[in-house]
Amino acid sequence: MQISDRIQKVAESGSLKMAARARAMKDEGIDIISMTLGEPDFAAPEAVKKAAIEAIQGDWSHYGPVPGYLSLRKAIAATLPAEAAFTADDIVVSSGAKQSLYNAIVCALNPGDEALIPTPCWVSYGEMVKLADATPVFVPTTAEHDWKLTAEQLSKAITSRTRMLILCSPNNPTGSVYSRAELEALVAVLEKHEQITIVSDEIYQKILYSAEPFCSMASFAALRERVIIINGVSKAYAMTGYRIGWMASKNVAIVAACKRLQGQSTTCACTIAQKAAEAAYTGDQQCVEEMRMEYARRRELVLSLLESIPDITCSRPDGAFYAFPDVSAYYNDTVKGSADMAEYLLNEAHVACVSGADFGEDRCIRLSYATDEQQIRLGIERIHQALLKLKSHNIR
Ligand code: PMP
Repeated sequence: MQISDRIQKVAESGSLKMAARARAMKDEGIDIISMTLGEPDFAAPEAVKKAAIEAIQGDWSHYGPVPGYLSLRKAIAATLPAEAAFTADDIVVSSGAKQSLYNAIVCALNPGDEALIPTPCWVSYGEMVKLADATPVFVPTTAEHDWKLTAEQLSKAITSRTRMLILCSPNNPTGSVYSRAELEALVAVLEKHEQITIVSDEIYQKILYSAEPFCSMASFAALRERVIIINGVSKAYAMTGYRIGWMASKNVAIVAACKRLQGQSTTCACTIAQKAAEAAYTGDQQCVEEMRMEYARRRELVLSLLESIPDITCSRPDGAFYAFPDVSAYYNDTVKGSADMAEYLLNEAHVACVSGADFGEDRCIRLSYATDEQQIRLGIERIHQALLKLKSHNIR
């Protein structure tokens, strides 16, 4: 059967591939510690589960409106910066933030357009841009700048074909978070380029460790009609399997386009899950804080364990639940880069992680700490031993 050229140029998700390999090894009876997936290990909040059960029993079993239930969209609008005055009309609810991103990218880009993506970046952005027949332009950031795009880098990367910038803060995989001042510097550049749409992936918004409050791209009046906010319930409320995400924009045309695409593809997000998501947004937010505090404890643990491994450096994540250590000091003739390293750690240490190359930074690997403390301790200890073994081979 013919497989389209379009899908053939799309790569498989590196993190999902690694997670599948780890699962297969586990099924063979091997004691694998998985630090691959970007998925909270907590159960969904009780109020969410109750709302889902009530939705089933209340027969919320029919198609819903394409952009999502009005009550859910109102609840979402209330979470957005007040100064932007979002209403339910500015929001389209989809089957996960992934679909919201896909909708936004496909609706905003034409073939040949360029989308700027600062790296390290989440694996799917570039592939989605390719699916829109547009060109991802990766802009490397550095550990010295805390893996953040600077105004100067942004300015230099813009060409006559640039139509989009995809920002992710808090970032997957680095955990870095843009401060208001850092975003302001980027906004000053973007103000001069009206043709650029800004996709702001804020899915880790509630998993923050710094004292500074989260700053959304939606807060900047200068870009108001050019920003598409992406968010959802997967990470903040441990609801990955419910598959509810959303986009919000003050740009009427992009909202209409996303509705049109969704109306011809998936119709609407699962109605039961929408009711559950509404309960998440309108219920007691203590569960979010409890999970955040647990991630904060694990972050300290991960950082201190990594610090004890010689020749590894790791910037301090200010958000999300990933550490992105630089392990390149251990590369040699056989472990030549991060993909080899991830493979080596899986086979030698029985720890699954994701290679930094999948995120555009070959010196690093990504370790998810959305797993319990005991697994973290054991996993990093195994990595430590495996790296020391590699070093002793290097010396010989
Ligand atoms: N954006 C980023 C940066 C992510 O890490 C993820 C999930 N790994 C998503 C979007 C997609 O989230 P969802 O489960 O809502 O599709």
